[in-house]
Amino acid sequence: MKIVSKPPKRHSFFLFLLLALIVSSVLYNSDQILDPPKKVAFSEFRVDLNEGKIDSNAVNIKGNKLSYQVGEEMKFSYKETSSSLADMLPENEYALINVDVVPESSFWSSLAVSALPAIFILLVIMYMFRSAQSSNNQAMSFGKNRAKLHDKSKSRTNFSKVAGAEEAKEELQEIVEFLKKPSKFQKLGAVIPKGVLLVGPPGTGKTLLARAVAGEADVPFFSVSGSEFVEMFVGVGASRVRDMFKTAKKAAPCIVFIDEIDAVGRKRGAGLGGGHDEREQTLNQILTEMDGFETGTNVIVMAATNRPDVLDPALLRPGRFDRRVVVDKPDINDREAILKVHAKSKSMSKTVKLREIARKTPGFTGADLENVLNEAALFAARRNAKSVVQDDINHAVEKVALGPEKKSRVLSKKERKITSYHEVGHAVVGHLMPECDPVHKISIISRGHALGVTWYLPEADRHLYSYTKFKSELCAMLGGYVAEKVFFGEVTTGPSSDLERATNMARSMVTEYGMSDLGPITFGEKNHEVFIGRDLGHTKNYSEHMAFEIDSRIKALLDEALKTTTELVKKNKKIMSKIAEDLLKKENLSRDEFLTYFK
Ligand code: ADP
Ligand code: MG
Ligand code: ZN
Repeated sequence: MKIVSKPPKRHSFFLFLLLALIVSSVLYNSDQILDPPKKVAFSEFRVDLNEGKIDSNAVNIKGNKLSYQVGEEMKFSYKETSSSLADMLPENEYALINVDVVPESSFWSSLAVSALPAIFILLVIMYMFRSAQSSNNQAMSFGKNRAKLHDKSKSRTNFSKVAGAEEAKEELQEIVEFLKKPSKFQKLGAVIPKGVLLVGPPGTGKTLLARAVAGEADVPFFSVSGSEFVEMFVGVGASRVRDMFKTAKKAAPCIVFIDEIDAVGRKRGAGLGGGHDEREQTLNQILTEMDGFETGTNVIVMAATNRPDVLDPALLRPGRFDRRVVVDKPDINDREAILKVHAKSKSMSKTVKLREIARKTPGFTGADLENVLNEAALFAARRNAKSVVQDDINHAVEKVALGPEKKSRVLSKKERKITSYHEVGHAVVGHLMPECDPVHKISIISRGHALGVTWYLPEADRHLYSYTKFKSELCAMLGGYVAEKVFFGEVTTGPSSDLERATNMARSMVTEYGMSDLGPITFGEKNHEVFIGRDLGHTKNYSEHMAFEIDSRIKALLDEALKTTTELVKKNKKIMSKIAEDLLKKENLSRDEFLTYFK
């Protein structure tokens, strides 16, 4: 909302004027207030006149009021309004007095008396008019765009601030070239791209890249979030779009950046709930505006989304967002580069090895890595240290990956023991099964909802998962459940989330990856209509009979994993209880400490 300007100071000026008028009129009459004259009848005035009591026979006439002085005393009387004093007195009496006619009242006080109500009414009207106008302004600015124009000189970003993402930068370089030297392209008859869609998971630097393009090309950058177009009222979004493009065309060459475009650009005609018409209108307006650029309008529309699958196909056709730039999660080299970029602004110890951190953080996005270094700096500050050391960063990685430690949670002795055996169950089974990621750390310090964690780290970034890998993972997930059963004779509620994850994995193996004897079929259609940011679920596109078959395959996979795991745990009971007892004492076991048990 635009902030409505405060009522102007002029009001207080009028108030001051009013006060001044009142005060001056009061002062004007003040002598009479201090020494009130005596009212007498007209006949008495005549008596006083004839007897010569009036001081130097002077009579003040003001309107039909006569005032005169008798010695010390001030007296006044009234004449008739219609006739003059000369008419009312015999000629000889009238000749006696020195008439001194004063105007009825001073100009100012008469003005005050007559104009005061008028001024007052005027003020009220003005006030009403003004407030009506300001609410009018509000209504008018409602349909205005909220695009923020980023100052070029301030907070300038360029490609050097974006680490990794080489392919994305290469593609965007062309856009930069075009914005800098449009004629070079136009001479050859090349049509300039109108829209660039940045696609990638959240936190991978899409917004950063868009700003960097603007910075490199040295052009104005209008940024707006898709959700800002969506309002309660139909038509507002469309009018904002129109307004935004109008502003942008004036500032051309420039970049218009629509962040989170999926908020408005979702497939049309498949809506859930209200507000749908509004979105369609807004989207239509965006499409119309993009089509409406005459050749030579150097406005490039960039947009970012992490849900390209839900976008309306009309947005993606040539002439609109036909360029797609994929921004993926960074690999190990990119992670190191990103860490380097963000380490520059922090005071880092020379001993810090960022490569090692990059190795430990598969799946982290640029935003996560920035967060890691920030947490590390906070840890260092808490130690009152001058610079961030490797341990601070390790600590921060754990905090970001696993959640903050919850040391205040008090577990009973028995609970701690169960947790310890449970985690060792995961670790040992994972260690012994083929293709499982190496155990990086075991801990029985609570974090979030988990009472303990076993942290596996892949040796390298992984892009493909095999059937063997899935089966081993299932066993590792069941390791905690089996350990509780073998060592304590019964299970607790502890493994419930392990079971959930294992079941989901087994279901995916059967229904998505064709890893069961049901063959290379996928079951269920992912429902892409999003509701409060989540998939509503699967659409069932198979028979009840198939559902039964699927369930039986899922159960078979889990039964097999349970059997393998139970055998493994029973065979390694001795080593497991040794590790579990040590873990109880130490609370944490590192990879190296864990490996010593298997030598
Ligand atoms: P997205 O828009 O993709 O969700 P952002 O562009 O907002 O992500 O990125 C969030 C933050 O993460 C950025 O401000 C930046 O500090 C950091 N970041 C992400 N990717 C990178 C990168 N490749 N290089 C440097 N910093 C990055
Ligand atoms: Mg973003
Ligand atoms: Zn577990």
